[in-house]
Amino acid sequence: MGLDKFTALLSVADLKKHYDVNFSLFGRPTRQVKAVDGITFNLLRGETLSIVGESGCGKSTVGKTIAGLMSPTEGEVFLNGERIDTMSASQFRHRRKRIQVVFQDPFSSLDPRMRVREILAEPMRNFGVAKRKGDVDKRVARILDTVQLPKDAAGRFPHEFSGGQRQRIGIGRALAAEPEVIICDEAVSALDVSVKAQVVNLLQELKERLGLSLLFISHDLAIVDHITDRVAVMYLGKIVELGPRDGIFGNPRHPYTQALLSAVPMPEVGVKRERIILKGDVPSPANPPSGCAFHTRCPLVFDRCRKEAPVLRTVAEGHTAACHLTG
Ligand code: SF4
Repeated sequence: MGLDKFTALLSVADLKKHYDVNFSLFGRPTRQVKAVDGITFNLLRGETLSIVGESGCGKSTVGKTIAGLMSPTEGEVFLNGERIDTMSASQFRHRRKRIQVVFQDPFSSLDPRMRVREILAEPMRNFGVAKRKGDVDKRVARILDTVQLPKDAAGRFPHEFSGGQRQRIGIGRALAAEPEVIICDEAVSALDVSVKAQVVNLLQELKERLGLSLLFISHDLAIVDHITDRVAVMYLGKIVELGPRDGIFGNPRHPYTQALLSAVPMPEVGVKRERIILKGDVPSPANPPSGCAFHTRCPLVFDRCRKEAPVLRTVAEGHTAACHLTG
């Protein structure tokens, strides 16, 4: 996008999250998993950027690291030009207020012993959005209205709601902190198809109405096509393609993106994509392939791919891909 950390709302630079997984007799690490291995992107104000890829590609780790739920191994995260990944514990609250997360499973992320009123009031008090009872009650009522739940929902417990309604409570809890960025981590993946569409429409409407920025982490490209402005495709901890929705969905350049999209039904009746079946599973991030990490599954692999890792190069305006065939 050509925007630096001072003009983007959220800016992530060379972010890495590595884990030590095997240890010697003396407790020294002998093997590392590179769950996220040097990713860079910007999120603009009012934008939805989706991070997509198969399970295990590192996309959820990116979200958790940005939200401060995990600390990065290396790299920098800026919000409005202010570095947030090195904030002290007292500054941390400030960061948590501005970046909220909606998780995949609303049932396990909502305290079953708390009524909805308390679930929504807690972040208001914790982040200093509202303290007096009258103010909190007014805000709770407004949030329930915003996420399209009835007023009497305030007095009920999470188990009294359907999956879709619980996810609306999860979205309401994120909104209660008055954040600038909401990270949706597979937030609609566990929902039935019709409910999924309703919750996605709600997120889209909230983004536009409240000027929020969404980092939408998902493996479901049909949903991503519906909601996103831009897409980052991850494979084994790295971004392999990043671009505007029309560029990614209309003219994907990376063979991995092409394979993922070939499995997505076309919206036009009677139009079919040729399905590209990828061989094998995603390799272990503890032992990634040499050269291009996708070479063990790529239908277009050639000699150079096994030896040399491709770098992200511009293929169109605001659109980059990491493949020797696009260089
Ligand atoms: Fe496939 Fe080679 Fe491109 Fe990697 S660099 S995606 S192996 S063609």
